[in-house]
Amino acid sequence: MNSLERNDLIHEFGTAQNIARVCQRVALQHSAKKITQINLEIGEFTFINPDQLRFVFKIAAQGSIAEDAYLNITKKPGAIRCKECGFEGKVTLEDNPEYHSLGTISLGLDCPKCKSKNTEIIGGRELNIKDIKVED
Ligand SMILES: [Zn+2]
Repeated sequence: MNSLERNDLIHEFGTAQNIARVCQRVALQHSAKKITQINLEIGEFTFINPDQLRFVFKIAAQGSIAEDAYLNITKKPGAIRCKECGFEGKVTLEDNPEYHSLGTISLGLDCPKCKSKNTEIIGGRELNIKDIKVED
């Protein structure tokens, strides 16, 4: 495993721990015995890999009422606003291959219309727990 992959896993592990913690708190408030499913919305620009997140969640939630929960993940596309031409809309990282390996966006993303990098991200950084399914 190279250092980039290891960093990715650490990033996802922290995220998994947070998800497990929040879901457990909600489930316990409702006197649930077990969490069976967690519905998540994850923005493309969070750079979270769903398969890795499911994998590390098993570890993060081990021994808790969330340990057998299935993570149902919906990906939300990223969106930018272009300060040059006024374009507003979806962009994917496929259009910006240089960001795949970085795991972070420090420069502007390319505007799909005018190719300017003078853009700002307006969507795709969210990580929302939509709801959870529990057994009483
Ligand atoms: Zn533009």
